[in-house]
Amino acid sequence: MQKYSLAREIQRRTEDSPDAICFQNETEVYTYRDLGLRSDVLAETLGRFFPESEPILCFGGLNFNMVVSFLACVKSNHPYIPVDSGTPKHRIEAIRRISGCQGILTTDEWPFENESLGESKREVKPIGEIAKYPICAAEGDRTFYIIFTSGTTGLPKGVQISHDNLIGFTDWMLRDFDIGYGKRFLLQAPYSFDLSVMSLYPALLTGGALAVIGKSVINDFNRLFAAIPRLDINIWVSTPSFADVCLADPGFNETENPGLSHFIFCGDELPRATAVKLKERFPKARVFNTYGPTEATVAVTKIEITPEVLASCERLPVGYAKPDVRIGILDKDGNEAPQGEVGEIVIAGSAVSKGYFNDAQRTKESFFTYQSLPAYRTGDAGCMENSLLFYKGRLDFQVKFHGYRIELEDIEQHLAQDSHVKAALVVPEYRDYKVRRLIACVVPEADDIGKESERTASIKRDLTLSLPDYMIPQKFVYLEKLPLTANGKVDRKGMTDAMNKKK
Ligand code: AMP
Repeated sequence: MQKYSLAREIQRRTEDSPDAICFQNETEVYTYRDLGLRSDVLAETLGRFFPESEPILCFGGLNFNMVVSFLACVKSNHPYIPVDSGTPKHRIEAIRRISGCQGILTTDEWPFENESLGESKREVKPIGEIAKYPICAAEGDRTFYIIFTSGTTGLPKGVQISHDNLIGFTDWMLRDFDIGYGKRFLLQAPYSFDLSVMSLYPALLTGGALAVIGKSVINDFNRLFAAIPRLDINIWVSTPSFADVCLADPGFNETENPGLSHFIFCGDELPRATAVKLKERFPKARVFNTYGPTEATVAVTKIEITPEVLASCERLPVGYAKPDVRIGILDKDGNEAPQGEVGEIVIAGSAVSKGYFNDAQRTKESFFTYQSLPAYRTGDAGCMENSLLFYKGRLDFQVKFHGYRIELEDIEQHLAQDSHVKAALVVPEYRDYKVRRLIACVVPEADDIGKESERTASIKRDLTLSLPDYMIPQKFVYLEKLPLTANGKVDRKGMTDAMNKKK
């Protein structure tokens, strides 16, 4: 692996081409000069207030100052924790508690009242020379970012990604996807979802621009369909579901978007139909499917979806492992499964995280050593055919919904705390291997709520205090009791089958 510093490389871009566009959305344009200057000033401040290596929480939506905050943290050797502005207060509190972070950078309205930010009881170092940054950047195996993801216990877990984990990923992106320099990358995933990393660092390392579509535009189709051609995107990075939304617009085609050369997908099943439609609408563009969990740094496999791949596979493969990664398929006993047989996907090599921040227990459960390399048990089912990986669903109760990773047990933990709920189970409803909606099966507490609709509204209201919107079930079904299996456990599979049969 090449040894260099991401912070220094990006700094070089800000010095070599200060006027190049680095970030653009519907209404704003920022240059590399803006990025360099603002992040230097902020890095200097962080360096004075917070001891090195202490994580800093960065709170906000898809705005430019979040990028500035990340770079400032990296330049002053602080791991950053991106937290989306849509995150409910309870979740933010849990992240603060788990990470123990003292530093918070807010680029949007901070949802806590009566909290004075910026006061520090610590000894603050005197102002130094601002232009000196980065002086002690997060490099080598120092933690670069910590992304919090859904956890089965109802508490999120913080995946630590080091600088070296990340350059293993960016090197591969820049080398193996034929991206080139100065391109415009779509950025639409929240910073708290590591799909955003797939646009962020490849763009900044190559003097490219982030072409940004925020939540308010995504939620308004007219604005969204108008924004896409205006952003003049070259490299499309999104979940397949977002491309499906855009394909609903007949104008989403090569004529209207002549610069679009790459579609790179990650985070969820790429339906064959989506790839076929993209190839019809954009005959010259290349379509890639990639796969990987946050714990193995964004993505670890890739395949270009060519007409040959489409002709030979009904369900699309997720790709070949990148060179610094080994993929194993293990059977129930932890032994190597025979070629072509389905087992658990394990990922080993330098892409694998050092574990969950301040959570030795959960780190021990999921991280181990495989073939003498650091490894992660994904919980994904898969099989290998001639080094090509096929994804076959989950071995546990984690789902992907519009690309968001959700532990169903996480939702259940929060439901169980509701005063109107005696017991609850959350099951996914699928279409074409993808989750269409989440269904909460609830045994209600005896109370004086008469109508089911009132009960549902009340439970949903309570859930919004502790869970992000995408984790709130769309449908509620009320039962007298939860179905049990022969040995007395809640019959999750039976319930999932029942909800998927009933139409
Ligand atoms: P996240 O940590 O949010 O990136 O989620 C990782 C999980 O998303 C993986 O463990 C898979 O279950 C799923 N996933 C990621 N990429 C793909 C893909 N190309 N096809 C199917 N599932 C995927």
